[in-house]
Amino acid sequence: MRARWPWGGFPRWMRGLGGLAFLTLAVLSLSRIVPPLASQSATASPEIRAATLIPVLTQEAAPAGWAVSIQGAGAGRLSLQNGADWGAYTSPIFQADFPFNAVALAWKAQTPAGSQIILEVRASPDGQEWSEWFQAEPLDGFLADEGDNRSQVIVARGRFLQYSATLYATDPDLPPKLGDVKITYIDSSQGPSTPQPRAVGTLTRGASVNMPAIISRAGWGSPEPYSSDRWPPEYREWQKVIVHDTITKNNDPDPAATVRAIWYYHANTLGWGDIGYNFLIDTQGNIYDGRFGGENATGGHALSCYNPGSIGVALLGDYRYAEVSPAMEDALENLLAAKSYQHNINPLGSGYFGDRTLFNIFCHRDVSGSCGNNHQDPGTYAHDRMPEFRGKVWDRFPMYSQAWVQHNTPARMAAGATASVAVTVQNKGQATWSPGSLFRLGYRWYRQDGTEVLQAGGGQQRAELPTNIPFGQSVMIMAQITAPPSGGAYTLQWDMLQEGVTWFSSQGSPTLDAAVAVDELTYVAEVTAQSAYGPRLPGSKSPTWVELRNTGTATWYRTGANPVKLGTWSPADRASALATAGDWESPSRPTYADQDAVRPSQVVRFTFLATAPAGPGLYREHFRLTADGKGWFGPDMFLDITVLRPIKTYLPQVYQRYSGGW
Ligand SMILES: [Zn+2]
Repeated sequence: MRARWPWGGFPRWMRGLGGLAFLTLAVLSLSRIVPPLASQSATASPEIRAATLIPVLTQEAAPAGWAVSIQGAGAGRLSLQNGADWGAYTSPIFQADFPFNAVALAWKAQTPAGSQIILEVRASPDGQEWSEWFQAEPLDGFLADEGDNRSQVIVARGRFLQYSATLYATDPDLPPKLGDVKITYIDSSQGPSTPQPRAVGTLTRGASVNMPAIISRAGWGSPEPYSSDRWPPEYREWQKVIVHDTITKNNDPDPAATVRAIWYYHANTLGWGDIGYNFLIDTQGNIYDGRFGGENATGGHALSCYNPGSIGVALLGDYRYAEVSPAMEDALENLLAAKSYQHNINPLGSGYFGDRTLFNIFCHRDVSGSCGNNHQDPGTYAHDRMPEFRGKVWDRFPMYSQAWVQHNTPARMAAGATASVAVTVQNKGQATWSPGSLFRLGYRWYRQDGTEVLQAGGGQQRAELPTNIPFGQSVMIMAQITAPPSGGAYTLQWDMLQEGVTWFSSQGSPTLDAAVAVDELTYVAEVTAQSAYGPRLPGSKSPTWVELRNTGTATWYRTGANPVKLGTWSPADRASALATAGDWESPSRPTYADQDAVRPSQVVRFTFLATAPAGPGLYREHFRLTADGKGWFGPDMFLDITVLRPIKTYLPQVYQRYSGGW
């Protein structure tokens, strides 16, 4: 269990009680039934009462022949008579101040190697009819505390109490010693005895393992349902589940009262400030919310090595000799499935935790002997079924499920445009996603009326996984998407699939739907510059260009369905007087852009050879851009050309033979 104060220290409730033990010696009664001796009542809440008895050892209760000796001042110390290898002491009967439904013991013990002390307690409503004897199981964390021991809560109902101690020694020279026995009795009977199950929350990630109904702290009558001021919650992401049992009696007539008693004992008697377990489950399958703080709150159930990062689940009862009831088993598996699913804990998995590798769902006894843990709980009837429980928890997981973590699908795209999208998705199902088994991320476009846009490639686009992804792991997948060819409002629907087997959405796992506004493609341009074109001689060929900015949404391509070209204009498709045979595509199409793709806002030149016409004069040639299949666009551009009259040149005779023959 949790130990809050330093080793060797005393919890608050014990301070100031030492002197009381002295005084009680004087009021010791010799009657068979004695009134309470020293007792201190502590009422933390109107609903729960508790008091602590400090009984004094009496010679009357240690008759000769029982081989125990009483030594020391005050309440005294119990040991073995010289040479005895065992002895027993049964206390007088004590009457409590009020009826109780749970008790717990505190004691100091010296147990040299080979010696042992067994403490037991029983209860009676009238001092006549007695319960069985309940053994006080020491809580972890106190054994090493210089013999300072606390028991777990013992469910025992009545008004009268009695305890017994049995001492054993294998070496009579090293007898055990027992002292400072204190009995705390708790009345937590007031409060909801048949609480209505209330869900404290539902899963928000992956909707496929439902949270079972859990009785809230208010629902079981915690005096502090909404706070834990004395032990403010500390948080560590839950990675493990540790299963306990409370070693309380089976067939508990009022499990909610027992939960309240455990809360009181942990919070007040032990001074922790709250109950240690995160959840408790009763025989009828009720689940009780324990430690305040909700998800990832650190409890107090397996000491410092194992408390942070683990969920402490306590089965009410003692499973050393009794079976776990079917209702309790079902509740345990439901709770473990919901919590391990929510926290991405693989129920069949294992991993390093605290100081060693442990199953993700393990038993408190599995870490016995480590970090101060000595409990052997839960009992064999629960412990030995853990492999079966883990399998049944795993069986409650869906086969195909995912959680969408993050994505950067663009909110706006141009029609037909492509984009790279990163989608981070988490595997929330049993099936490991492997590229080899054709697990992929798919996407589909839907119009506003819900009809699907079928794209090239069958309309169902895919992105490959980079690696194997088991349950609980996330992966970022890069997908190339292509927007629909026409503008409008669309939904891009992401969905995982196993090719040829199933889309995850068909298995009930939600798709990721992103709204994408697709802009209609527009072809718009503006002139930014053009080449100078001075007077030319007829037939001379000159590189000529015009520079344009793409101010529309469509990318200009040289090839494809809508190649963009420079064309003759005014009138359109006229054969140009400047056409250069062999260089132009045709007399009405001088050229394409100088680069293969011109994206919106890019600037590009259209360069072509212009051949000056044969006849001298002034020519004005109009051009405009055209996208095949879309039409003409952009400004009306023109080129003014002055073609000079050819000049007859009379060169000296000597040069004539070299002339071109104008
Ligand atoms: Zn335990």
